[in-house]
Amino acid sequence: MNVKEMNIYLDSLPSCDSLNERKGKTMSAEFGTRNEKGEWRPPYACRYAPIFEWPWKPLKVLKWLFGWPGYLWPYHLIYGILALVTWLYLIPSAEVCKVLSPDWILLMLVRNLAMIWIVYGGYHLALYQLKLHGSNRKYHPKWQEKGSKKFLFKNQVFDNVFHTTVFGGFFWTLWEVAYLWCAANGWIPSLVWESNPVWFVAFFLLIPLWRELHFYLIHRLIHWKPLMIAVHSVHHRNPNPGPWSGLSMHPVEAFLYFSVVAINFVLPSHPVHFFFNSICTGLSPANGHHGFEGPLFEGKFITGSYFHYLHHRYVSCNFGEATLPLDKWFGRYYDGQGPYTTKGFQGNQDPSE
Ligand SMILES: [Zn+2]
Ligand SMILES: [Zn+2]
Repeated sequence: MNVKEMNIYLDSLPSCDSLNERKGKTMSAEFGTRNEKGEWRPPYACRYAPIFEWPWKPLKVLKWLFGWPGYLWPYHLIYGILALVTWLYLIPSAEVCKVLSPDWILLMLVRNLAMIWIVYGGYHLALYQLKLHGSNRKYHPKWQEKGSKKFLFKNQVFDNVFHTTVFGGFFWTLWEVAYLWCAANGWIPSLVWESNPVWFVAFFLLIPLWRELHFYLIHRLIHWKPLMIAVHSVHHRNPNPGPWSGLSMHPVEAFLYFSVVAINFVLPSHPVHFFFNSICTGLSPANGHHGFEGPLFEGKFITGSYFHYLHHRYVSCNFGEATLPLDKWFGRYYDGQGPYTTKGFQGNQDPSE
């Protein structure tokens, strides 16, 4: 729901003090409700993008595709620009990449760690250190945990920073190095604009959908009980996620998560397609895990994912994301309104209890 839709929706609700504060285009007030446990919930359900809604509404789809915020901007545009800049200025030449050598591999790692620290660290600094948004629209009533033995160093933030930096940074870079090495040696199919401009553009539009499908599949796989215990439990240490929880994964999960870029080894693509895919995968979890309902800061900063927060909170719903309605099709969708009711779930696990 964008800011405009939100205001129309809120205008349609019965008047109350918190809603009146929300009107007048200010997004700073808490317009949702907190339950007896102090958990914040918005007054609307989290919804899927209209592209797979039936009956199909072309105008709504076009608005979703080209509107602000929408499918293309701001985030996919930002990741696309970062991919272009990376390809133009921040990777070694094909000649250098033909041979694996620590010199350029380390530079790639440093570049990815810098992006991780700027983006994940930036969210953490703003929302959890400086607390610039207070606890307004923070889903979970508590801040990050300290003193619990379930976390490395008995500290949730340190644990998450460690896993995101070490395993997230490592496997992100590993897949990028493998791609540049294979591409430089001509072992994988390539694509230039002149050869097929339609596929060149279409591939950019399809990559985010492929990312959702891939994420859904590997996510369901690692929720298989033995893998959940051995692997995915590291990520689920965080029923109250923060930005650094985004890539806080067991190394097996981090490897699988970044394997989404394998599609660029198989289908003809340009390095900018590859880096678009890779940078979306590396950076978007910060946006999806910071634990606040967006847009933040007077409605100017489009960010947040109630959909994925609900997965951390309840574990057995919302395995995918909010464009492809895979959870709806497979009976695991919970929209965040009313009691937890999704069908076929493994049990109403409540990790915070
Ligand atoms: Zn998560
Ligand atoms: Zn999960």
